[in-house]
Amino acid sequence: MTPKHEFEFCRPNDSLDERLQRMEKRNIDVIPMLQGEDLETGDISEYLDQETMRKRKEEGCTRCGDAAKRISEEDHLNQDLHITEIMSSYLSRANRPKMPFFLVNENRQITGLVTLADLDKVAVKMYLFALVSELEVSLLDIVSKRYSELKELCRCRYCLRKRESRKNKSNSDSLEEYYYLNLRELIHIIIKSDVRERLERHVGSHNNKNYEEIALLRNTVDHCKPLVSGDFPIDRLVKIHELIKNLISAAKAQTNSCRPDSCQSTSSLNTRQ
Ligand SMILES: [Zn+2]
Repeated sequence: MTPKHEFEFCRPNDSLDERLQRMEKRNIDVIPMLQGEDLETGDISEYLDQETMRKRKEEGCTRCGDAAKRISEEDHLNQDLHITEIMSSYLSRANRPKMPFFLVNENRQITGLVTLADLDKVAVKMYLFALVSELEVSLLDIVSKRYSELKELCRCRYCLRKRESRKNKSNSDSLEEYYYLNLRELIHIIIKSDVRERLERHVGSHNNKNYEEIALLRNTVDHCKPLVSGDFPIDRLVKIHELIKNLISAAKAQTNSCRPDSCQSTSSLNTRQ
């Protein structure tokens, strides 16, 4: 969130032309408009976007106030929302995808703005990384139990080569082979096996590309690449996030309800814990 006093506003009497040029130069699509001179008492109930500004300018308008649009109820967010709620708030305004900010409220006072750029911040990447790791653990849990049978399903040349080099780099010979699977390989195995159908009973059917995107998302947050301004525009990010969350609960339900007998045998107690 950007606190209110740090944010750039326009005022009704500002020159439309100057403001538009400035926004174009700085690549800002939308700007809130402040009525009254004082930030504390002033009213923020309208905004301007480049497209409308250009149109109004052609029609002969010269003041920012002449190009303003109303900020609606759904453009307000509470201060204490979770990252996930902020992401889905963007989608719930899907008919206005070009409106890239929310006004943040605390006790009915506007305290700042959330923009799409905020979703590229480290806190969001950390949250997503933790979530993807949780998925990885749940999928590994499923795959490891039937590893000898399932491992044949990921024999892509790229995956095999990567797996081999990971194994060679490792100092431990005692690690089970399935620990060398990465998320991408786990996903390959899941989507080619009967596990997919069982998971999809909970998460609905998805195409291979949706699954592959999970590994791409992991790579993106892992390497701190741009997220919303990169490979994951907000609508795509929200969908993948939803899929990951659903897969985690489906995978957990899977391992809890159909625990094979072998898991309760002595061999399952042979772990280091
Ligand atoms: Zn593979």
